[in-house]
Amino acid sequence: MSVATSAAADQSLCSPLPVLGRDVTVPLVTGGEVTYAALDYAASAPALQRVWDDVAAYAPYYGSVHRGAGYLSQLSTDLFENARRTVEEFLDCREDDQLVFTRSTTDSLNLLAAALPADCQVFVFETEHHASLLPWRDARVTYLNAPRTPGEAVSTLERALADRDPYGPALVCVTGASNVTGELWPVKELAAAAHAHGARIVLDAAQLAPHHPLSVRELDVDWVAFSGHKLYAPFGSGVLAGRADWLQEAEPYLAGGGASKAVARRTDGGVDVEWHTTAARHEAGSPNVIGAYSIASACKALTEAGFDSLVAREQQLIGLVRDGFAEVPEVKVLSLFGDDAPRVGVLSFVVEGWNSSHFAAALSAEYGIGVRDGLFCAHPLVRTLLGSDPQEQGECGAPEGAPGEKSLNAIRVSFGAGT
Ligand code: PLP
Repeated sequence: MSVATSAAADQSLCSPLPVLGRDVTVPLVTGGEVTYAALDYAASAPALQRVWDDVAAYAPYYGSVHRGAGYLSQLSTDLFENARRTVEEFLDCREDDQLVFTRSTTDSLNLLAAALPADCQVFVFETEHHASLLPWRDARVTYLNAPRTPGEAVSTLERALADRDPYGPALVCVTGASNVTGELWPVKELAAAAHAHGARIVLDAAQLAPHHPLSVRELDVDWVAFSGHKLYAPFGSGVLAGRADWLQEAEPYLAGGGASKAVARRTDGGVDVEWHTTAARHEAGSPNVIGAYSIASACKALTEAGFDSLVAREQQLIGLVRDGFAEVPEVKVLSLFGDDAPRVGVLSFVVEGWNSSHFAAALSAEYGIGVRDGLFCAHPLVRTLLGSDPQEQGECGAPEGAPGEKSLNAIRVSFGAGT
């Protein structure tokens, strides 16, 4: 276990942005306690101290958004709308893009799926996280086989798009950085391929946004989705930003107050509704102002600190882990695009002779290191990487066979600010 502890114990590297919970101690089965090493940022990152402080400073001024004449309501409305502007700037959105605050990436992609025009064809790689693989079930979906190089990803998509009905609407959904391998996908090239064939593209940036500067304009993606809780904000908030037209032509995602501009009884007894054509159309109900405010605060903190030191730190830690693993022949790092492919601070592996779930449990119980084990809500991808059948069914985090048998599960470490 010297490999795992060497990365956790290296104190020579400093953390670029303070996060909450760095000094939490946890008990060990061997007795005593140790400072917890959170290495599961890809699942949820701890909130930045700055975000927490901003929320605490706002808390006494808490009021309803878009719904009150009082001073605090107006203040909250301003904060909510300013948060929208801040996140739009963070994403480098186009002038007429719309940014909808949602609950998460999953929510954002389901919202977009619900807003697709009739007969839309959707193209998605089987390697996607379930949040970007599954919401399209009501559309005509083409699942693309796992590519083994970024170039193959582009050519696979081009071939599939060339075969499509050229007159109907089409959407490509792709993840910017894999939550399993951390590998970066050729988003700009995929966007160019999509557009060349008259299709649109949505970027699942759940793993990219926390590790990488992101420009909707430069990548030329039509929409981008990400989650606050992976970007150092608390749980419960997310973002969908991009082209306004499909969003505004669609029925509201949720029906209710806030989304409706005017409602009147008809003489036949029914109800007529005029829906908003702004982002409010898909934000029915009292909005999560703390969530939006927290995401904006995290975006500001990341912009001010710059991504350079964060990325350098993550790459240093990934390098440390990889160097350690190189000394242990039993460890196999999972990769779709090859060992040298650029990746964010996320890495999955298996250890020959070990049940991955037992291994992860031992890291926690004996060393106070928190990692993730399982299939990471990307079952077909992990099965492909482990050389098992991608069509097999199984639960997220399903237990595997006896030690010594082929791994059916993997272990993931992931880094970020504060590691
Ligand atoms: N997309 C990717 C690449 C992810 O890693 C995740 C979460 O792990 C999601 C989407 C879903 O994010 P959320 O659970 O916040 O909706």
